[in-house]
Amino acid sequence: MLAGFARHFGGAPTSLWSAPGRVNLIGEHTDYNDGFVLPFAIDRHTVMAARLRDDRLLRVSSAFTEELIEISLDELSPESISGWSAYPLGAIWAAGAFGADLERVTGIELYLVSDIPVGAGLSSSAALESVVALAVNELWELGFDRQTLAKIGQRSENVVVGAPTGIMDQSAVLLGKSDSVVLLDCRSLESSVIPLGLHDEELTIVVTDTRVEHEHATGGYAARRASCEAGAAALGVTSLRDLGVDDLARAEALLDDETFRRVRHVITENERVLETVAILRERGAGAIGTLLDASHVSMRDDFEISVPELDLAVEVARRHGAVGARMTGGGFGGSAIALIRSSQVGSLREAHLAAFAAAGYREPVVFEVTPSQGATRHPL
Ligand code: ADP
Ligand code: MG
Repeated sequence: MLAGFARHFGGAPTSLWSAPGRVNLIGEHTDYNDGFVLPFAIDRHTVMAARLRDDRLLRVSSAFTEELIEISLDELSPESISGWSAYPLGAIWAAGAFGADLERVTGIELYLVSDIPVGAGLSSSAALESVVALAVNELWELGFDRQTLAKIGQRSENVVVGAPTGIMDQSAVLLGKSDSVVLLDCRSLESSVIPLGLHDEELTIVVTDTRVEHEHATGGYAARRASCEAGAAALGVTSLRDLGVDDLARAEALLDDETFRRVRHVITENERVLETVAILRERGAGAIGTLLDASHVSMRDDFEISVPELDLAVEVARRHGAVGARMTGGGFGGSAIALIRSSQVGSLREAHLAAFAAAGYREPVVFEVTPSQGATRHPL
């Protein structure tokens, strides 16, 4: 980290920051429908060393490519940044879009190192946007709260990167707490932290990264979003959040089959999130398995965002003792999660490797995640 910073910029950084990746426990494609999500921050991070300059240059490099990107604050615009640097530099541009006076600040040097697998559905992108937003907020004394920093990251991803993603990822990354999930109402942006108690129940969450890479900006994500908007418009509501299971019969009568199934996923998924929260509070994480399983079936059959590798990961997890399992993230690849007794993690990993080999799929990466604290500054 420090060596990488010195290689690119010379000398030492003056501050150190980190932002975690995230896993969504349940509530998929509900965020941009003004609904509910229940993600947690994980124990994998993007770490960033930073140092202010005394001119107007922004210089950013990442161990991901070791390429050094440089641009003046005076030239920063969504059109002037591209590639991976759209994430960190886009967050700075978006801070300006939210009212930060970027005319009065000086440049900065940023060096990034990450152990969040990229494109695996664990939101390496939000970690990157959030770590930059958090750091410049403090170093430039911009005065934004964490909710606004999440919106800044989202704006960057939407406008600069061009991926029409919701507010979930940045919220989990910025608001996460250890051994807890974040319930986020994506309409009001109200959030609450709900204890998971995994440790006490001797439960573990295992991520299986299928290494099938998704591509949000060009993939089916935008098409799903468009279907949801079309469904809401046809049903006369601002967003699908305004509908409940009582509206399903009317939706089925009005909509074509595909749009109806997209709408049904969102309506039932919102219900599952709220039910998960209720069960977590009353009975604990060991009792949420059937909701995780039902969420996967809904994404596979109604929303059609799963892929065979994700279905296999979920099926194998269920066969090998998981309390519940589902694909997580935007879909079309990425990762699945399984909630399982801690003592069964080793045998689940073996089973995943064997099943993927037998199916002729790429070897998956199977690892445990611990729900963790959100983005933070570290002492140097
Ligand atoms: P996910 O968020 O699921 O990991 P995305 O496609 O949304 O996948 O974001 C991945 C992109 O984010 C990468 O292709 C790269 O451009 C950028 N990125 C993520 N982490 C880093 C990093 N540490 N350094 C440079 N770029 C990164
Ligand atoms: Mg992402």
